[in-house]
Amino acid sequence: MIRVLRFSWGRLQRRAMTHYAVYGNVTIVRTFCEECERWSLVLDGEKSCCGKELTKEPTYRKRMSCPERKRQPLTPTMKNAISRRQGGRCYYCRKKMGECFFVRCKPIWLRAHYDHIEPFAYSQNNSLDNFAMSCQLCNLWKNDRMFYSVEEVRTYVRRKWGEKTPREG
Ligand SMILES: [Zn+2]
Ligand SMILES: [Zn+2]
Repeated sequence: MIRVLRFSWGRLQRRAMTHYAVYGNVTIVRTFCEECERWSLVLDGEKSCCGKELTKEPTYRKRMSCPERKRQPLTPTMKNAISRRQGGRCYYCRKKMGECFFVRCKPIWLRAHYDHIEPFAYSQNNSLDNFAMSCQLCNLWKNDRMFYSVEEVRTYVRRKWGEKTPREG
């Protein structure tokens, strides 16, 4: 009896090493990376910990609860570091902070917002690498939808910019 139980437990654990993680209505592949010895999300087929390709296929779905861990507030020094890394430009539309654009005939000066690249609720990743500076417009447009990659966000905001500022050269 005990042997049977132990066998099933082991099988269950191996099966659980790669699975679909369901967060609310969002499903992301999650895997235990043996090299990094940590749980990691798989984005675009790559593990978010080390960028290595995922070879196993997920076999089952697991409903996750989103623990409400405290978000880390960014200090001015951290914000400066992020801004420097991006050359003072928005991570998504690459326009420069402080520049003025006419949106529906109204002048708008781009202001910096700081946000997680991988949503914090899913990744729990508070490291500086997971933060991006974006302008208030990209930030607003981006928050309307769920995206699966940074490229997808960039394509989307490029379209939005085209719609909102048609005469912009
Ligand atoms: Zn890894
Ligand atoms: Zn932008």
